[in-house]
Amino acid sequence: MRVTLLGTGDTTGTPTVGCDCETCMEARERGVERTRFSVHLENERTGESLLVDASPDFRSQFLRDSVPLPDAAVITHIHFDHLDGLGNVFRILDELAVYAADETDPQTGKSVAQTVADDYHYLNAVTVHPTTPFETVEVCGLEITLVPVKHPPLVCYGLTVEDPVTGGKLSITGDTNYNISHRSRETLANPDLLLADGIVPAHLCANHPIGGRDYHDGVPYTFGTKHMTREGARALGAELGAERTRLVHVAHYYPADEAFEEPLAVDGEQYEM
Ligand SMILES: [Zn+2]
Ligand SMILES: [Zn+2]
Ligand SMILES: [Zn+2]
Repeated sequence: MRVTLLGTGDTTGTPTVGCDCETCMEARERGVERTRFSVHLENERTGESLLVDASPDFRSQFLRDSVPLPDAAVITHIHFDHLDGLGNVFRILDELAVYAADETDPQTGKSVAQTVADDYHYLNAVTVHPTTPFETVEVCGLEITLVPVKHPPLVCYGLTVEDPVTGGKLSITGDTNYNISHRSRETLANPDLLLADGIVPAHLCANHPIGGRDYHDGVPYTFGTKHMTREGARALGAELGAERTRLVHVAHYYPADEAFEEPLAVDGEQYEM
């Protein structure tokens, strides 16, 4: 399977519209982008493609990276930057199978699957498949397993994608703080590639109204309550035994001299597994 990182940014992306901070300026100079989150997976055996999250930048991402249009999609949660690109399939696709969790979110009274079905009821192409976390489903010839993560106040899901032929494994944390359950960690463990939410470096917790959480040796692994810090994401990668970890959902708040260092991803990176 070929993995293309279509969108590696947080909800405003980098460069952020109207922002002239050093990081956004540096991104423009380097000609790199971190658009809103999305990952493209191509099963080269079957010729099918799976999209993880529907970025509002869907159109420009597909034009830029020239990847095939998706046959199916997974939606991790209902925030704008992961869901609102789904409307882009109008008149582009005749059929899109959308997989999303079937558990009711106490916050909305609906599951992610139900919210997707309600919001996009007008799109004939979209067929929603409510999916039970921890139960593996086969999509595009790949094995997909959703796992609950922690992104209060909404439910959110990470996932694993395994190639049953090559044994290649991709784990994606979804938007999450560091406090992921033991059971979810067990499913996410030992990937060839981990894509981990690392929204800002730990030192920026000083700027968050409620600071950091999940301190380890004085370093916060969670920024506020919703996302991991760079340090938290790297620690999770080590703990899960990831062969390789790339940080995604990266914000323009990283200082310019840290924003383009390893292991922070930028759009368009591709991995074969
Ligand atoms: Zn900026
Ligand atoms: Zn989110
Ligand atoms: Zn997000």
